[in-house]
Amino acid sequence: MTTFQSFNLPSFLLQSLERIKIKTPSPIQSKAIPMAMEGHDLLASSQTGSGKTIAYLLPMITTLNTSQGRTALILTPTRELAIQVKDSLIQLMGKNPSFKMALLIGGQSMGQQFAQLKANPRVVIGTPGRIIDHLKRNSLKLNKTGFLVLDETDRMLDMGFSQQLDVIVKFLPSERQTLMFSATMPSNIIKLANKYLNNPQRISVDLKAQPAPKIKQRAIYIKSTEKFPQLLKELNEREGSIVIFVKTKRGAEKLAKQLQAQNHNTDAIHGDLNQNKRTRAIEEFRKQKSRIMVATDIIARGLDVPHIQHVINYDLPSCAEDYTHRIGRTGRAGAHGHALTLISPDDSRKWKSILKTTGAQMSA
Ligand code: AMP
Repeated sequence: MTTFQSFNLPSFLLQSLERIKIKTPSPIQSKAIPMAMEGHDLLASSQTGSGKTIAYLLPMITTLNTSQGRTALILTPTRELAIQVKDSLIQLMGKNPSFKMALLIGGQSMGQQFAQLKANPRVVIGTPGRIIDHLKRNSLKLNKTGFLVLDETDRMLDMGFSQQLDVIVKFLPSERQTLMFSATMPSNIIKLANKYLNNPQRISVDLKAQPAPKIKQRAIYIKSTEKFPQLLKELNEREGSIVIFVKTKRGAEKLAKQLQAQNHNTDAIHGDLNQNKRTRAIEEFRKQKSRIMVATDIIARGLDVPHIQHVINYDLPSCAEDYTHRIGRTGRAGAHGHALTLISPDDSRKWKSILKTTGAQMSA
């Protein structure tokens, strides 16, 4: 079995891993870390929850430690994912980080970001739009970037960031190491990899080799008008933190208010909230000050809160991939989780197709 000790990592990283109780490398880490440490570009298929963040942060930190003149850039599709990556980096760097970092995401004050950039950060983590804002204002220089990570690349393309990525990459030196992670590998991702990567190693993890997610899945067929009473019944029967997914921003607001009116400790998160509100809602949920989060698909991929015990699909997701990402919010890092989907008569066709594509098995 591979161990973190076999990767030639600096000892402070091994100590950090021990402190945060990460003991053995996940399959993607076993493959990606040695190759990245040898300096290869990587094109990696990585599913949600596979441990991809640590798979790229460990080689990145090691590289920055050994080559002082170089900096790193991590691009993510969403603000939430960028914040999580920053949190993981802080965890790994421990109390006395040897370099500064900047978080450049939309919806947050430019002033604070200017201050972070003035301090000469060696790691910049951000979303494409805000990174370009800073490049245009000349507040961000990327000419020393020796290490580039594209995280959830398929999601960045889905969100229409392809042109922005092109603009950003033009600011980077061609002499660099690039790691590209993507949950899926459609042809547009391969094309992008050919453009941005230099003779990359392809890594895919045999899905069967990954620990089977311990998520118990259940579906209830129900009339639309009975969904809310059923939801209340389900909430009362369950313990622990719950994420409820709905289709629209308005739907999220409305359902959160209805649940608050029933004395459920509930928050909502969706794309119409400003970044401070989104961050606050996630923090409250993370600290278990609120028990229920009503969300749109905005957090279906990025959110990593280990104590989420239940995911409820109040509205059906629009495709199989979104279903997998939504239910992947529970059962994190080997914990047990439950996923419940409410299916109204109008949904039954879409539901059949989701079941067929995912091969999901429902419990009684
Ligand atoms: P990610 O795929 O990067 O979003 O990581 C998913 C979760 O798995 C995070 O909570 C990590 O802290 C956790 N994790 C990452 N690597 C490991 C590992 N080797 N063993 C156990 N948990 C891990």
